[in-house]
Amino acid sequence: MKGNMQNMDLTIPKLIEHAERYTSDTLIVSRETDNSILKKTTGECLNQSRKIAKLLQSLKVGKGDRVATIAWNNSRHFEIYFGVTGMGGVLHTINPRLFPEQLIYILNHAEDKVVFVDDTFLPLIEGVQDHLEFSPVIILMGPKKEINFDIKNLHFYDEMVEQSEPISDWVEVDEGDAAALCYTSGTTGNPKGVLYSHRSTVLHTWASGNALRFDTTSSVLPVVPMFHVNAWGTPYAALMTGCKLILPGQALDGASLFELISAENPNILMGVPTVWLGLLNYLSEQNLTLEGVDSVMVGGSAAPLAMIKEFNEKHNTFLVHGWGMTEMSPLGTMNLQTKKMKELPNEERYELQTKQGYPLFGVEIKIVDDANNELARDGSAQGALLVRGPWIIESYFKSDSPAVDDEGWFDTGDVAKIFSDGCMQIMDRSKDVIKSGGEWISSIDLENAAVGHPDVEEACVVGVPHPKWDERPILLVICKGDLDKESINEFLGDKVAKWWLPDDIIKVDELPHGATGKLLKVELREQYKEHLME
Ligand code: ADP
Repeated sequence: MKGNMQNMDLTIPKLIEHAERYTSDTLIVSRETDNSILKKTTGECLNQSRKIAKLLQSLKVGKGDRVATIAWNNSRHFEIYFGVTGMGGVLHTINPRLFPEQLIYILNHAEDKVVFVDDTFLPLIEGVQDHLEFSPVIILMGPKKEINFDIKNLHFYDEMVEQSEPISDWVEVDEGDAAALCYTSGTTGNPKGVLYSHRSTVLHTWASGNALRFDTTSSVLPVVPMFHVNAWGTPYAALMTGCKLILPGQALDGASLFELISAENPNILMGVPTVWLGLLNYLSEQNLTLEGVDSVMVGGSAAPLAMIKEFNEKHNTFLVHGWGMTEMSPLGTMNLQTKKMKELPNEERYELQTKQGYPLFGVEIKIVDDANNELARDGSAQGALLVRGPWIIESYFKSDSPAVDDEGWFDTGDVAKIFSDGCMQIMDRSKDVIKSGGEWISSIDLENAAVGHPDVEEACVVGVPHPKWDERPILLVICKGDLDKESINEFLGDKVAKWWLPDDIIKVDELPHGATGKLLKVELREQYKEHLME
């Protein structure tokens, strides 16, 4: 027997209407590209979104057409998010840190009709425009001004939006229609497009907004960029919950972030570990502390134990570890503070916090061996991490083949353990795990242990060929002062198994990072492939 309830489509236009009606006076604070701080209400921003929707219609953008942004976290970007998705268009956020060839590939593949761009990124557009198979309308996000670049088809946001009428009704869409498009950064091969639907976005928003405890009393600083996986869904969650948003623009250094935090008092921060490293270093140099920040949500790479401890002990802030990926909208698991955790002594709790946590309701996870047999959830077996759920990819944009197996499981490319209580721990990317004499060494664990050493600023562990053990780890470090291998080895001695200790420690001046801030280990493996063979 079927239930008798209604089947309302879950769409972003409905989400916008909800916010317009009930939380339109919520504040959005934004550091603009000229570095000024702008304060607007959600209602004011969404009124601009209505004008953008009409403007896009006048530019012949229809339902399902892609509209790109290359922009920082700022108020205009927020307005575009909802102007595009509210009129049935597909919001395509582009990561400006991609290589120009990848940008060209993405713009051609997505066939973007319009590209909104912050002036920081005009040189990027100038560099790629002649390689595009289509000629999109380029809209500079700001007032009309003289510019020093030769850009075709260029218009100015403020002028165009001001002249546009607001759309009277948001466009009706089906919940299965596409709403947003993000490309993976593709360290090998071309980037792949992940096409979110209205439904998947709304469901992800419900789950993440709830889990992150967003409500009308909260104030959230997403340092995680709106150009990469929709800032982990924060703009949507802000509309659903009515929380205050603080958008940091392009000023992501410790001093600027602290200035914004002191002025606007967020109680929730969100970002990748490198950003927090910058902030923590600044705070420690200046002898400052954070006040009123309840939690800092960290994802994208593993948060080291030293960071978890420093946030807690110096700033009274709880670090919530989250894990996910572009193909998962992105949130899959979170390690929120539980009743059990609160009762634990600090050191035990920190250890638990290094794990990536428990699936949000809706996400299923399992680990499998090379033959696809499910492995035990015993905290000891480790294998390929597979996921499925209503905000997880089924197939890539414009691809005919599914990205999942017959039962809907998507292989994340991560290697993980699952503990008996369900807590998941990422051990490594499958391509980065070090296979030494048939046993596995987690490069992430070693790196995180190494950054706890007072002289180590950043650490990277890669597996390189070894005549006896197939592969052995070497540790590359950016360090303060001279390298003291003995002291680092001694420090690691009681944190990891003896046979995990790196075969060599090398001081480097810099480490290569990809478009999403992750270490590019492929290059380093190539560079050091002979290191232990000599
Ligand atoms: P990219 O474009 O770099 O793939 P994603 O955000 O999609 O960007 O990256 C997803 C990957 O990042 C995951 O598969 C995982 O390897 C890594 N990752 C994300 N969050 C964490 C975390 N909390 N701990 C460890 N690794 C993480």
